[in-house]
Amino acid sequence: MIQSKGYAAQSASAPLTPFSFERRDPGPNDVVVEIAYSGICHSDIHQVRDEWGGSMYPMVPGHEIVGKVTAVGSDVKKFKIGDIAGVGVTVQTCMECENCLAHAEPYCKKGMVGTYNAKDYAGNITFGGYANNIVAPEHYVYSISPKLDLAATAPLLCAGITTWSPLKHWGVGPGKKVGVVGLGGLGHMALKFAHSLGAHVVQFTTSENKIADAKKLGADDVIISKDSFAMDKQAGTFDFILDCVSADHDINSYLKLLRLDGTLCLVGLPEVPIEVSAFSVVANRRSLSGSMIGGMQETQEMLDYCAEHNIVSDIELIGVHQLEQAYERVLKSDVKYRFVIDMKSLDA
Ligand code: NAP
Ligand code: ZN
Repeated sequence: MIQSKGYAAQSASAPLTPFSFERRDPGPNDVVVEIAYSGICHSDIHQVRDEWGGSMYPMVPGHEIVGKVTAVGSDVKKFKIGDIAGVGVTVQTCMECENCLAHAEPYCKKGMVGTYNAKDYAGNITFGGYANNIVAPEHYVYSISPKLDLAATAPLLCAGITTWSPLKHWGVGPGKKVGVVGLGGLGHMALKFAHSLGAHVVQFTTSENKIADAKKLGADDVIISKDSFAMDKQAGTFDFILDCVSADHDINSYLKLLRLDGTLCLVGLPEVPIEVSAFSVVANRRSLSGSMIGGMQETQEMLDYCAEHNIVSDIELIGVHQLEQAYERVLKSDVKYRFVIDMKSLDA
């Protein structure tokens, strides 16, 4: 077994504390990554605090993982020792159902196994990236260009692909008017991508102090969502809106901004059910949809696109001992725009 150390939550109400555990020895298809940086996703907080139910403890969160390859199994083809690599939200799928064969692994019919807080097909609980190493099959490990700032690349593994996948699926590009709701970790990546893909992008935010940043990140327009006059002016004009909000909010006010056949796609996962008025979707034949992370192939495409266009996340680098303060700031929508843990701090 491989010795690992990281930070874990022992219950929904306990702070994260140092935790030692073991990972499996690499099998023929496995890659071992020494973790350099690990991003903090709002999903980590939802799961640590058991807001979605079914959390398993001890829990080592983290699914925005980058580092160096330190060992490879005998059948591994894509990686060699010393390569820079990333691991995201998924570490196992059946690889034979129609969804896996269509490169839509998050929708695996047997069930996709998450990088942490999940049971793999052998029944072992998975541990994530707030740790010094990880072992994953090569299918779920991505190549990362040495051109990119490594720490700022970590959030691409979840916030990046989760926004890239729906933007590509719904054909966001030149001539499309696109809205992004919530300027957090996911939202700021959605904004960067939609702008880079050539769409006209409008950022919706509850935070007046983010207006200038939103413009710098690529917004053609920024709307404070509680300004009902500004919201009404946009009615019936959007082709696509990506909702990246982590907490309860009124989605009807965004549905009515869609034009004929427009789509509102949810990627945010508030813990409470969302209320939808039938009138909000019946008018203009609108669609309400959702999207989960992204497939392995499109994740690599996204990373390659980022290397080509020099796109990374805007980050605040922290040490592991600052996790609690970081979580509190995420909950106050006060992060610009993703916390990333420097794993060297595990030894400090
Ligand atoms: P985050 O960094 O905390 O960003 C969430 C943003 O939502 C905040 O910055 C804030 O933006 C806005 N917001 C927060 N509370 C709000 C409220 N009460 N009303 C209106 N707006 C509010 O979170 P994240 O890491 O981007 O994650 C966002 C959500 O996506 C989480 O629920 C997460 O679990 C989910 N997620 C889903 C997937 C997937 O596969 N679908 C993958 C990863 C994450 P403003 O300050 O601009 O208003
Ligand atoms: Zn995530």
